[in-house]
Amino acid sequence: MAIAERPLTLNDYKTPVHINWCPSCGDFGIVNAIQRSLNELKIPPHKVAVFSGIGCSGKTPHYINAYGFHTLHGRVLPNATGAKLANKDMTVIAVGGDGDGFGIGAGYFVNSGRRNVDFTYIVFNNGVYGLTKGQGAPTLARGVRTKSMPEPAIQDSLNPIALAIGSGYTFVGRGYALDPKSLSELIGQAIEHKGSAFLDVLQTCPTYNDVMTKTWLEESVHDHPRMYRIADEGYDGVVSDPSNPSEIIAKKVQAIEKSYEWGDRIPTGVFYSARLRTYEEELETRLPDYATTPLIDWNVQDRDVSKLLAALR
Ligand code: SF4
Repeated sequence: MAIAERPLTLNDYKTPVHINWCPSCGDFGIVNAIQRSLNELKIPPHKVAVFSGIGCSGKTPHYINAYGFHTLHGRVLPNATGAKLANKDMTVIAVGGDGDGFGIGAGYFVNSGRRNVDFTYIVFNNGVYGLTKGQGAPTLARGVRTKSMPEPAIQDSLNPIALAIGSGYTFVGRGYALDPKSLSELIGQAIEHKGSAFLDVLQTCPTYNDVMTKTWLEESVHDHPRMYRIADEGYDGVVSDPSNPSEIIAKKVQAIEKSYEWGDRIPTGVFYSARLRTYEEELETRLPDYATTPLIDWNVQDRDVSKLLAALR
């Protein structure tokens, strides 16, 4: 029976492509969580487009039954932006590693945040460049030495949550790859958010990172789980009045402060969320037809540019 004629199931988001990540890689959990969230939201595969950069996580679109584009190193966000602006009726999900997003793609990361295009960007954060044999990536902390490194890192790590807040992402959260149920709920919230959503997902790389392991992340410290959900402790990152700049700034400061908690306690969940005007909504004020008709349906072949050319003479 065709998909359109029956209820969607989780299997509708899977592909027959052989998954060639290392056994026990955290990437499996993230793909599973994306598929679960799409199924929970009942978004049909033909209304979803998944974009990826280069790295182990770059293979993600191969494994999700949707439109997919495995793009260039660090260039996932410009591609996702273009696709969303061309067809705003699509659910656009961008994925990539921390090296792809915060190394070569750092400029795109910052400028995509301030645009607030309506998409979801999921970073698979394992602290290393897994595909190229485990060199330290931008989120690897100073002094840490994984098994693939001859000596400890001598640079400070980047703080993805704080950078996302400062860049202007309007939904910022952190999840854990090996908890697909909670992660799928978080991804669902990010997809439903109107605007640019960024998720920092802690992803274990058992092949090259023997520091941020499943055991370390899930162990208890002083009788408390290392990872905890900020909402369980009364944290509220949602801006209740988006027209109030003071509240927005206060919630951003709160989120950035919380983002520096690391080590014995690692917070997860929604750090910040605000319903602010999207790039598409700004476009509609200049191009009224954009509100009702996606760009892909515009007739751009037969446009009269004579007035424009005359003005340039
Ligand atoms: Fe996963 Fe690491 Fe293997 Fe890449 S190298 S597939 S991130 S375990």
